[in-house]
Amino acid sequence: MSKNILFLSALILLFPTYLSLALAGGEPEPFNLNQPADGIYLHSGVHVEFTDPQHDDIANIGFIVGNNCIAVIDTGGSVTIGQELLLSIREISHLPICYVINTHVHFDHILGNLAFLKEDPQFVGHAQLADAVDQNRDFFLQQFRGDLGPTPDRDSIIGPNLSVDKTIDLDLGNRLIRLTAYPTAHSHSDLTVLDLDTKTIWTGDLVFRERIPSLDGKLKGWLAVLEDMKNQEINLAIPGHGTISHDWPQTYAAEESYLNLLLNDTRKAIKNGQFLEEAVSSIGKEQKQEWLLHEQHHSRNVTKAFTELEWE
Ligand SMILES: [Zn+2]
Repeated sequence: MSKNILFLSALILLFPTYLSLALAGGEPEPFNLNQPADGIYLHSGVHVEFTDPQHDDIANIGFIVGNNCIAVIDTGGSVTIGQELLLSIREISHLPICYVINTHVHFDHILGNLAFLKEDPQFVGHAQLADAVDQNRDFFLQQFRGDLGPTPDRDSIIGPNLSVDKTIDLDLGNRLIRLTAYPTAHSHSDLTVLDLDTKTIWTGDLVFRERIPSLDGKLKGWLAVLEDMKNQEINLAIPGHGTISHDWPQTYAAEESYLNLLLNDTRKAIKNGQFLEEAVSSIGKEQKQEWLLHEQHHSRNVTKAFTELEWE
C-alpha cells in the first residue's frame, strides 16, 4: 500500500472521530439560519435554562428582506448573538437595516440590539417598551453583565426610538410589514410582526411551542389576545420559542390548553381556600411530560397566576 493511500485511509478513519470530538468539545457550532418563506430568515433558539452557557441563544430571531431595506426581528440575548445575526445578514444582503424591532422586553430578545447601533436603524417596539427597558437596565446589567459586550454599562441596553401604540405598517421597499401592539399578555410590551406578502407572523413570546410558556404579564390578558388572534389569516407562524408552524391557530393549541388549565385550576385552588404554597405544589403536575423546562418555570407561572386571580 503506498504512503498516500495509507494516509488517506487514516484520514477517512479518523475524520468521524475528529468531527465528534469537535462537536463534543464545545467548539462553537455554526450560527443556524433558515429561509422558511421568501425573504424571511430565521435563526432558531435552543431550549436551555437561563443558567446554561447558551442562555443567550434561546429565542427565535431573524430578519425580513425588502427591495430597499431590511427589518430585524429580535436580536438575541447578548451582543455576541446580535453580532452573529448581523454577520449572517451581511452574507445574504448589503441593503441597509432600516428597522430593528423587538417583540418585547425580555433579555433573550433584546440584549443583542447594541450590535446593530452602528447600522443606524430605527429601534421599534411597543409603546410600553421604552419604559420597560429603563426599568430593567439595572437588572440586565447585574444579571447579564457578561452578555453586554466588552464595556457593559446602562447604555449597552438599547431601547426603542419608534413606538407602536396599536398598529403601524412599515415599508421595506415593495414589502409591507404590519406591527401590532397588544394589551398586557405574556408581558407588558408584546408586539407581533406580520409580513403581508407571505402572511408570515412573528409572534414573539405570545406563542411558545415545545418550551413551557412563561407568564410575566397577565394570564387572562394572554388568553384574550390568543382568542383575538385566531381569526387572522396566517400562512406561517414563527413563535418566540419552538418550531415554526403552517397550521394557524392550531399552532398554539397546546399553549392555550396549558394556560386555560393554569387559569381553571388556580381559580379552583383559591376558591377552596388553598394557600399559594399548596397551589404551587398541586397544580398542573400532570402536564409535566408535555413541556420542556416544565420543572424550571411551571411553579413561577402558578405563583404569577395565583397573585393575579387572588383578588378576582
Ligand atoms: Zn423569550
